[in-house]
Amino acid sequence: MHILIIEDETELCNSIADGLRMDGYETDMCFDGTLALELCMTEVYDLILLDLNLPGIDGFEILKQFRTMNTSTPVLILSARGQIQDKVEGLDLGANDYLTKPFHFEELEARIRSLTRRSFIQREVCLTCGAISFDTKSRTAFVNNCPLTLTRKESSLLEYFLLHPDRVISQEEMIEHIWDGSVNSFSNSIRVHISSLRKKLRAALGYDPIHNQIGQGYILKEELK
Ligand code: CA
Repeated sequence: MHILIIEDETELCNSIADGLRMDGYETDMCFDGTLALELCMTEVYDLILLDLNLPGIDGFEILKQFRTMNTSTPVLILSARGQIQDKVEGLDLGANDYLTKPFHFEELEARIRSLTRRSFIQREVCLTCGAISFDTKSRTAFVNNCPLTLTRKESSLLEYFLLHPDRVISQEEMIEHIWDGSVNSFSNSIRVHISSLRKKLRAALGYDPIHNQIGQGYILKEELK
């Protein structure tokens, strides 16, 4: 899950990014409105956190322009402007939620969970495929209800597979949603993480649920009995 944080208070921006990384999200940070608009027009994100008072272009204008070309990516406004008119304007411009600063990090986490589940039409906290399950709140994977020890990246990969069962997922799509802008040699690194995830799943399940479709990508499937 790839999140863009647009916030010009660098300390706040950093602490949100750190917290979300601990939760297993990939995060990009942007401190300037003009750059932010460029980023959200060119990169693919699963969610955007948007401050309103920004240098360059202000948050409402970013949202307005972003929504002319993208109506599906959820946008959560984070702002010190707590006035009802600002909330109404933000929601009317196409924001999906609005959180007034200061806020509790737990509340931000819960709202992000709710918005990203909504975007994948997934209402459960727990995702499952056959004997595999993943608790998106505690970020723990289970096989036949026994917890599985996964790295942060392996957890993100498994979560993405479980959100898109029975569909081939290309390496490009994984890069867009699971890796942040700071990683080099993407494809090699993806192969390494997928291979270690497959090893762990195979050891726990007795079979490999992830299949490689040459030239297309990977697919997670339940074993057919
Ligand atoms: Ca600000």
